[in-house]
Amino acid sequence: MAPCADFAALRASPADVRVVASDGSNIAAHSSVLAAASPVMEQMILGARRGWDAGCAVVCVLGAPSDAVAAFLRFLYCRPGPRGMTAAGEEEWAEGAVGEHGAALLALAHAYRVPWLKRRAEAAVAARLTAERAVDALKLAALCDAPRLRLACARLAGKDLGAVERSEGWRFAARHDAALQGELLQLLHDAVQRKKRWERERASQHVYRQLSDAMAILDRIFAAGGAGAGEVCAAEASPCEVDGVRRGLEQLMRHFAACGGRARKPAACPRCRRALQLLRLHASVCEDRAGAGEPCRVPLCSNLKAKMQEEGVDKTWKLLVKKVTRARVMSALASREVPEVVKKSWAKYSSRRAARFR
Ligand SMILES: [Zn+2]
Ligand SMILES: [Zn+2]
Repeated sequence: MAPCADFAALRASPADVRVVASDGSNIAAHSSVLAAASPVMEQMILGARRGWDAGCAVVCVLGAPSDAVAAFLRFLYCRPGPRGMTAAGEEEWAEGAVGEHGAALLALAHAYRVPWLKRRAEAAVAARLTAERAVDALKLAALCDAPRLRLACARLAGKDLGAVERSEGWRFAARHDAALQGELLQLLHDAVQRKKRWERERASQHVYRQLSDAMAILDRIFAAGGAGAGEVCAAEASPCEVDGVRRGLEQLMRHFAACGGRARKPAACPRCRRALQLLRLHASVCEDRAGAGEPCRVPLCSNLKAKMQEEGVDKTWKLLVKKVTRARVMSALASREVPEVVKKSWAKYSSRRAARFR
C-alpha cells in the first residue's frame, strides 16, 4: 500500500496517524491537525488509540476516491483565514480541488463536520451545476443537508426542465427513486407558486407606488398658488415621466370643480367619485402635516379629515393608507443620495461575491 499523499513534511513533528482510503491507499498525517479541524476525526483518532495498535492510529475514510480524500486532508492542513488561503498558490490549488472533487468534498465535509469546507464545496458544486447532474446534485443536497445546492437544482430545473428530464439521473430516479423525482417536481411547483406570488406582490406594489406618486403630484398641482381647480394648468411643468399622470389629474380635478354631480349626489358621477376618492386618500396621508405652519391647499382636505375623524374609516381603507404611506417612504429612500463610502463598500462586496462564484 503506497502512500498517495504525504503530509508528514508539512509539520515539524512526525506523522502519527495513518488515513486509509477506500482503495487501500495510505496517507500519513498528524492527529493534532485532523482533530483540531474535525470533531468526528478527533473521536475516530481517540477510538483508534484505545485499540491494540496505539503507536500509529489508523483512521478509515471510506466512500470517496483516494484523490478526493487527499484533497480533503490537505484542506484540513491549510485551513483558510477570513481572506481565503494565506499561502501563495494555495488559493489556486483550492479552486481547482473544489472544481474537481466538489461533490466528494461536500460529502466528506458534511460527514466529518467541517462547516467552512462544506460551505465552499456546496458553493462550488452549485456554481458548476448542469442539467445532466441536477438530479444527482439534488440527492447529494438532501443527504448532506445543503439548502443552497437544493435551491440551485430547483432553479436550474425551473429554467430548463426538458434538459433535466433527458438526463440519465432523471431516468434512473423514474425507475428506482420516485421520492426523489417527486421532490424535484414539488420544488418546481413551489418555485412556480413563489414566482406567481412575487408577481402579484410586485403588481400591487406598483399600484401603491402610482397612488403615492399621484398624491405627490396632487400636492404639487395645488401648491402652485390657487386652491381652485381652474388654476391647475398654470402649475409648473413636471418631468416627462409624470406628465401623463399630471395631465389626467388636472383634467379630473377640473371636471370635479365644474361637474354638478358631486353637489347633488356624491356617487352620481363616476369621475367625481374617483376624484373624491383621491382627495380622501390625500386627506388620509396628509395627516402628518396637520401641525405645519402653512395650511394644505388641496380642495376639501380639512373637510374630509374632519369627516373621517367623525365617522371613522373601515379596515380596508386603513390598510390602503398604510400601504400608500409605505410606498411613499420607500420611494423617498430609493431616490436619496447614497454616501460615497457606502457605494465603495457595496462595490467591493459585489466584486468579491462575483469572484467567488466565477
Ligand atoms: Zn362629475
Ligand atoms: Zn391636505
